[in-house]
Amino acid sequence: MSAVAAARSILTRLHEVMASRLHAQGKLNQVVDIIGEALHSEVCSIYLLREGMLELFATRGLNQSAVHVTRLAVGGGLTGTIAQNIETLNLAEAATHPEFQYRPETGEEKFHSFAGVPIVPRERAIGVLTVQHTDPRRYEEVEIEALQTVAMVLAELIHNAGLVDDEVADGAEFRSEQEVLGGLQLVKGLAIGQAVFHQPRINIEQTVAEDTEAERQRVYMAFDKMREQIEQMSGQAEFGVGGEHEQVLETYKMFAYDEGWSRRINEAIDSGLTAEAAIERVQQRTRMRMREIQDPLLQDRMHDLEDLANRLLRIVSGQLGTAASVGLRGDSILIAKNLGPAELLEYDKRRLKGVVLEEGSLTAHVVIVARAMGVPVIGRVRNARGLIREGDELLLDGDKSQLTVRPAQSVIEAFEARFARNREKQAAYAKLRDVEPFSRDGQRVEVMINAGLRDDMPMLSLTGADGIGLFRTEFQFLVSAALPRRDRQTRLYRDVLEAAGDKPVIFRTVDIGGDKSLPYLRSETSREDENPAMGWRALRLALERAGLLKVQARALLDAAAGRTLNVMFPMVAEPWEFDAAREVFESQLAFLKQRRRKVPEAVHYGVMLEVPALAEVLDLIMPRLSFISIGTNDLTQFLLAADRANPKLAERYDWLSPAILRFLRRVTEATAGENVALGVCGEMGGRRLEAMALLGLGIRRLSITPAAVGPIKNLVRQLDLVEIGAAMAGWLANPPADIRATMLQWATERGIDVD
Ligand code: PEP
Ligand code: MG
Repeated sequence: MSAVAAARSILTRLHEVMASRLHAQGKLNQVVDIIGEALHSEVCSIYLLREGMLELFATRGLNQSAVHVTRLAVGGGLTGTIAQNIETLNLAEAATHPEFQYRPETGEEKFHSFAGVPIVPRERAIGVLTVQHTDPRRYEEVEIEALQTVAMVLAELIHNAGLVDDEVADGAEFRSEQEVLGGLQLVKGLAIGQAVFHQPRINIEQTVAEDTEAERQRVYMAFDKMREQIEQMSGQAEFGVGGEHEQVLETYKMFAYDEGWSRRINEAIDSGLTAEAAIERVQQRTRMRMREIQDPLLQDRMHDLEDLANRLLRIVSGQLGTAASVGLRGDSILIAKNLGPAELLEYDKRRLKGVVLEEGSLTAHVVIVARAMGVPVIGRVRNARGLIREGDELLLDGDKSQLTVRPAQSVIEAFEARFARNREKQAAYAKLRDVEPFSRDGQRVEVMINAGLRDDMPMLSLTGADGIGLFRTEFQFLVSAALPRRDRQTRLYRDVLEAAGDKPVIFRTVDIGGDKSLPYLRSETSREDENPAMGWRALRLALERAGLLKVQARALLDAAAGRTLNVMFPMVAEPWEFDAAREVFESQLAFLKQRRRKVPEAVHYGVMLEVPALAEVLDLIMPRLSFISIGTNDLTQFLLAADRANPKLAERYDWLSPAILRFLRRVTEATAGENVALGVCGEMGGRRLEAMALLGLGIRRLSITPAAVGPIKNLVRQLDLVEIGAAMAGWLANPPADIRATMLQWATERGIDVD
């Protein structure tokens, strides 16, 4: 008999037992009979975990008096070894195995051959299914396969009948051991909360199929849908970040079209499983095989296959929502492979305390959004989703880039003490709210904040910042299901201006594309471009997409009626782009005036300097500009040809490299004495050492993330700007081997707080 037919005949009979009205023990007794008979095995036994021990729950062939009497430790004897290692044993002579333990009360001495498989509902064994025989023979592969399939169905029966303690079934029993995982610091800060998976695990509710053909159709359709999704993935936010995506995508494609994989799932369906159970069954088998192979490269592949299998499971079970759609229940730390900025914004800010990503990089937009939300993030936590279980207690230390999983009580206490100290520090910074940032030598530095949502506005008065140096208007586009209409845009801009009062707000026109792809504009902002950061994004897209910039111009002009409007254009590379964008605003303005509508008192235009080419033509464009804001996030990636979102390039993407600093100096020199305000609005300005470098280069306006305002004001007050200017000139003329270390030492010697 084939493995499929063997499993199928057992499953059909098991289905009847499961549907019967027998009590749980009665069902288990029947189950061991059915399996024993089908496999022509004298003995068939089921051991289940109770109070931390594997207890014999049902047997055919061993002494019945041993039932609920024989108890084995996890890790002890053959059965305990199977449970602990989640492995299958198949032995012609059981007694030859080093872990063999003889239990006289069972009367098993006459049986020689032994095979056992773990019962694993969710990564952890809750029991073991064994067969034994007097003949010293190894069980055939088909029989082992059948046993494994049956063990999966048993997991459902055991769960439904509540035969093992709930915490055992959930794996909570094993959640005592603490683990510390390392990662890459993306957003500083501390957080305590429970692990919530952005894409929750799927619960398989039914394992045995009612109608095999229907299940097959479900899997076929799910495969089609999954392949379709993969084809589209290049444009998705989830894949829009990280230069590794091409490689991952290739692997995904390979698996998605792998005939072996779909054939095995098909065979599992033939054996009588539902579509969900079949996918999981094949996955379990792969996991078991992989556990034996310690090759890190293959394990990475396994990770991708897990991801894909989960995707297939989500499609087939219709459980498509993310944790955001269900809602966070308490203080939560989100676990994800990667996220798009829009996906992050869907979460309840009050409950989202931290984020752990398996990928991620410092200037990816999701990280910028998290920073603005004040949510600490660590990235590059390898296999986070494999090592953390949903509901695990987590301590996220964004300062030390560490994640403690299932912390011991003493560790929680120490962490809470640090938390309290951090809060004290924050409170000290808050005291600087009304203190103007003058340097020691009496120079005033403008400290502004970056914002993008209505919810960010209270930060202006909370931090005492001088204004909003960068309002990322595309955030409204990112959180909307469809292109925001003009009236909604006007309302937002008006609310923002009202909330800002007398303080200036610089609105940047939409910068979509790159890693800010919009689902409803996907066809236009997708990765059809090989290199989307340099692709059709920001002003390039806004100028060409009929109506986009025009609508925004009208909304901004209406919203700023009677006030000053500051407009900034992103990704300007050449003067004509600025002129074209300004012309859109000017013609809208003329139209409004013609209609005798109320217009802004003044409109000031500026550019982001983030495409290096613009620096070469600054003299040509400067007379028409009121301000320039250097976007160091993009500028750095273009100057160093190092993708800002690729974690593998994190070390190369260095704001303190002499090339970047010299370039910035060139810009400060070119604008010195001109009637144009120069500032920096990239993430660089919010980091103390980097901000010190910028101040040393002559920058006097920083627009930064709100959480950095206190620390940066404090820095300004500690610095003598003439002194740092001279030091900077020296370092740039003759760059030390490690400029970061040199600067750190310089600051430390003077007692300046930069760390
Ligand atoms: C920048 O590039 O530095 C910048 C501030 O813009 P964004 O991060 O939105 O691209
Ligand atoms: Mg930019």
